[in-house]
Amino acid sequence: MSKSHSQVVQGVIIDGTGADPYRGQIVIENGTITQLQKENPADKQASAGISNEDEIIVPGFIDLHCHGGDGGDFSDGTEAGARSAFLHHLAHGTTGMVATTMTLPRDQIEKTLFQVDRFRLAHPAGEMVIGVHLEGPFISPRWPGAQNPEHIALPSAEWLREWIAQYPGLIRMLTVAPERPGAEEIIRLAAENGIVPACGHTDASYEHIRDAIGWGLRHAVHCGNAMRGLHHREPGTLGAVLVHDEISTELILDGFHLHSAMASLILKAKQDQVCLVTDAIRASGMADGAYTLGGLDVEVGGGCARLGNGALAGSILTMDQALRNLVQGQQLSLPEAIRYITAIPARIIGASDRGTIAVHRRADFVVLDSGTLTVRRVMLGGRWLDEP
Ligand SMILES: [Zn+2]
Repeated sequence: MSKSHSQVVQGVIIDGTGADPYRGQIVIENGTITQLQKENPADKQASAGISNEDEIIVPGFIDLHCHGGDGGDFSDGTEAGARSAFLHHLAHGTTGMVATTMTLPRDQIEKTLFQVDRFRLAHPAGEMVIGVHLEGPFISPRWPGAQNPEHIALPSAEWLREWIAQYPGLIRMLTVAPERPGAEEIIRLAAENGIVPACGHTDASYEHIRDAIGWGLRHAVHCGNAMRGLHHREPGTLGAVLVHDEISTELILDGFHLHSAMASLILKAKQDQVCLVTDAIRASGMADGAYTLGGLDVEVGGGCARLGNGALAGSILTMDQALRNLVQGQQLSLPEAIRYITAIPARIIGASDRGTIAVHRRADFVVLDSGTLTVRRVMLGGRWLDEP
């Protein structure tokens, strides 16, 4: 994986903005895009039509919510756990990862921060790390989902302050239940420190969410899942998320977490304020069977992961599978669909050097097979990943 000084990548380009595909060349220097050349549109070759033999170059995928894969979980707090999870999703096209923790004891969260930071600084693929998403422990015991209720804690600005001081810039998103005591202080602290404050695993009323927007709340995790639902006289968390443009959100499109009509409704309501995430666990890329998640037992079968009580326990998705599900389930064109896993999540998390194919952006690309939408090659910072 040596970094060559200057190189050219050419093919059919979908740039992540939703614009039509074009044939062209991307010039890369030191891992950054320095020039884009469109072929002459008068040339027949340059017309937008994609043939089945074509390879398509799209921006690397960005996952704001992912716990693990290939047997590893970021929350293991081990070097091997983090490495397996990062490299599994990188091979499936995720070149921008927000490693997501669970509701865990404080020392376990700190081990996870340590290992993600170490991967970021020491591993050749470390530049895929955007940061950490703390999903818990500051959530509602009424909506634990697959989080371990034993370790739920009240929002603690003191913990967050210490973590920010110890790992400056590493934490990029914080999920909190805004109705819990201490939520206002921690949401304000997060927002002041460049951390996206998100609601999730929450029993918040419509009014709670409206108030929390005033404190800086900007995002909602896995829309529809583990949040107070929508009623026509009590819009709940879900109603507040749908109606407020200040709040972005995310969809787990695995065919289990959401009815396809709800996914359509959320996509319509949120426009470019919704992205796809995997919420993947260590079983992603592994055989069916028994696994653990945040210390709880999980059974994986038939494409879905559940706790013993039947609660959904994350997913076994990868971003390329989520893309295929979006294109097939929602009848979107490929350029429209690509936005939800590239430009939109990059904007939500504030990763301004990622998410589109444009001059000055990182040279992170996925080459897709135009027929199957499977990943053929991945480039991270100007380096092609080694062929499998
Ligand atoms: Zn969750």
